[in-house]
Amino acid sequence: MHHKTLVELSAGLRQGEYSSEELTRACLDRVAALHKQLNSFITVIEEQALQAARHADARIRTGDAGPLTGIPYAHKDIFCTRGVKTSCGSRMLDNFIAPYDATVTQQLNTAGAVMIGKTNMDEFAMGSSNETSFYGPVTNPWDSETVPGGSSGGSAAAVAARLVPVSTGTDTGGSIRQPAALCGITGLKPTYGRVSRYGMIAFASSLDQAGPFARTAEDAALMLGAMAGFDPRDSTSVERALDDYTGGLEHTLQGLKIGLPEQYFGEGLDSGVAAAVEAALDEYRRMGAVITEITLPNSQLAVPTYYVVAPAECSSNLSRFDGVRFGYRARDPADLENLYMRSRGEGFGAEVKRRIMIGTYALSAGYYDAYYLKAQQARRLIREDFMRAFEQVDVIMGPTSPSAAFRLGEKSDDPVTMYLSDIYTIAVNLAGLPGMSIPAGFTKDMPVGLHLIGNYFEEARLLNVAHKYQQVTDWHTRQPSNERGRRP
Ligand code: GLN
Repeated sequence: MHHKTLVELSAGLRQGEYSSEELTRACLDRVAALHKQLNSFITVIEEQALQAARHADARIRTGDAGPLTGIPYAHKDIFCTRGVKTSCGSRMLDNFIAPYDATVTQQLNTAGAVMIGKTNMDEFAMGSSNETSFYGPVTNPWDSETVPGGSSGGSAAAVAARLVPVSTGTDTGGSIRQPAALCGITGLKPTYGRVSRYGMIAFASSLDQAGPFARTAEDAALMLGAMAGFDPRDSTSVERALDDYTGGLEHTLQGLKIGLPEQYFGEGLDSGVAAAVEAALDEYRRMGAVITEITLPNSQLAVPTYYVVAPAECSSNLSRFDGVRFGYRARDPADLENLYMRSRGEGFGAEVKRRIMIGTYALSAGYYDAYYLKAQQARRLIREDFMRAFEQVDVIMGPTSPSAAFRLGEKSDDPVTMYLSDIYTIAVNLAGLPGMSIPAGFTKDMPVGLHLIGNYFEEARLLNVAHKYQQVTDWHTRQPSNERGRRP
């Protein structure tokens, strides 16, 4: 059963080939069998999941089921889930049980999807390798000595290893697309404001956006349909009708204008990744797309701009973790200041502290104009580059990440090298655009992702462009032989 896509499983459930309870049990068994190797879950909720599955079975029997009803999924541990621990990968929230559901959690619930647990992630979503998690690293199902990417590494590994057909992630600078690329699956970051951030623990509020992981674009479309929508509880949520994400999947790509940013194919790009991307572009040419070179002249500003904006916003967002209201509290504090200092000192890991310090500095009196204001100006230039490009082309393509999965520990002592893993994805968040990564081949037996960038609210077009490629290639069907945990 675990080889099947969401669409196939959904058909099987309706035809009564198996029940959601059986399916959920099969997923739980597989999670347990591969847990030691992957470490992709922080919390698994067997009893609640089986109960939700039985509820879904009842809905299916009465004909009150949608495509997600009865489908098991894994939820990134950044979404609040009532009654189930929400740790955000941090010691700070190791004891936190949210009293309410995030909007995304609620929407998936309403659709009848069955949450089987919460997935491992970089602490507070800060990282590109899942190595900053308080719960230890996740390993890549394609090679257990390499990273799955991050910060949504647990969710990506869980789908790649066929523990679940779909999962959720969040993307502030690449955390859906980069792990999707490194694990050989499909990941979609929607337009900023398309999916509610209510109940999603904030890292950098002007950049954070939730989206799905799946094996196919078609499955991702169904997930997005359930996750997206206006939410009055999120002031940045956009009031706009939902698009039909599955209806246009088959549109022809004849005449589609694809732009290749010259800046995305230069120095620093692994030659194996470049070759896979070139081959994917040839596939698009065969489908009738017209490919032209474009320029995004301010691309080199993206990483430095992000590492001012994101830390600045995180320093503010994470000030709520003070040991008083919720989360970790230091024992026997001498006084109030000591309580704050020790709770934060002991509750946060090194990367989170580094970002809080950078952000606090960037926002401090006298430096605000030099850093935060400057970064906002650069952000506008980056956005304008994209707007000019979308006057000429329909979608932008390139590699998702400059290399395939790297080895555990390889970059963990060198933050700047680690930050460069998101060199192609970060600008998309700064501009608020939708982006996607789809499997496009291998280099040295490790998956390569093709990055698709669309104009605002063009998720349906991205899904169409991804789906058509998946009709003529089989990279998305390749499966790691994770029972062995080695390269196939
Ligand atoms: N890797 C980037 C960072 O560390 C992006 C993380 C994310 O998208 N959450 O900030």
